[in-house]
Amino acid sequence: MGKDHILERIHDFVEPYKITSGKNFKLSDIDPGDTGPLTSEKKTQAKELLQKGIEYLAEMQDMLYAQDNWAMLLIFQAMDAAGKDGTIKHVMSGVNPQGCQVYSFKPPSEEELDHDWMWRYQRCVPERGRIGIFNRSYYEEVLVVRVHKQVLAKQKMPPSLVTKNIWEERLSDMACFEQYLARNGVVVLKFFLHVSKKEQKKRFLERLSLPEKHWKFSPADVLDRKFWDDYMEAYQEAIASTASKQAPWFVVPADNKWFTRLVVAGAIVETMAKLDLAYPTVDKKRMQELAAAGAQLMRSKD
Ligand code: ATP
Ligand code: MG
Repeated sequence: MGKDHILERIHDFVEPYKITSGKNFKLSDIDPGDTGPLTSEKKTQAKELLQKGIEYLAEMQDMLYAQDNWAMLLIFQAMDAAGKDGTIKHVMSGVNPQGCQVYSFKPPSEEELDHDWMWRYQRCVPERGRIGIFNRSYYEEVLVVRVHKQVLAKQKMPPSLVTKNIWEERLSDMACFEQYLARNGVVVLKFFLHVSKKEQKKRFLERLSLPEKHWKFSPADVLDRKFWDDYMEAYQEAIASTASKQAPWFVVPADNKWFTRLVVAGAIVETMAKLDLAYPTVDKKRMQELAAAGAQLMRSKD
């Protein structure tokens, strides 16, 4: 399968889930069980395509690293058990770990709470030449913090600044931050792995029944299911307010892991293929130096 052919096939999977504007966006229009044009009988074809996509991704990452101009920031958001960890593991399985940085954001520490909310995320923005992954991100500041008011209370904000506009203001700051990153050559892609409440229950029960998955289970996750609708509303608004051409959202159906992985890998491959990635070229003087070094090595006796 040639690269153009891979890109062509990938495009069909990715396009329906790519959100570049909040206008007319409705989260409820996207079915978590969707598998696009592929039925589960065609899973093997999907796996082959995923494999090719992963290989292509590794090649492009090598160039991204060598060229040292662009950076990629991949943001993963989801309800629990939607498959963030597994998706990151599979999609990035071919890339060189040296060029990749993963950050998993948990509840903030005392030190982090003593700063503006973007502080801890901003410090982790990837360097040029790297792919940075945020496993949860600053979007938690308008998700968990919005759904559970007691979390906001811990943030030590001056009370006069906590108004009914706070979520709108945070979302507008996020959109500006992403524009700033885009203008600096940090390519931002945001993934919402959209799992259904029913599939989440199934996966929680599986975690409970398999000893090797017990560590992944937290009773608090079950309590959070009560706030499902509040989370969906918060996601709806977050995605609609921050989807843009330079920092698109991908609302990825997540009830079928094989399909989720294909769409995520596809979105990354498609975006990277559009960057002007190339290995740095060597000028004439440097070529002469390399030739001289080669000749010297050939002449040496040891
Ligand atoms: P898994 O799917 O394996 O459970 P996870 O990303 O949920 O992975 P956990 O360690 O279970 O990882 O949970 C991280 C927790 O940190 C989440 O409950 C999330 O809501 C919380 N969190 C992240 N950022 C913030 C924040 N800014 N304020 C408060 N809580 C946060
Ligand atoms: Mg969790």
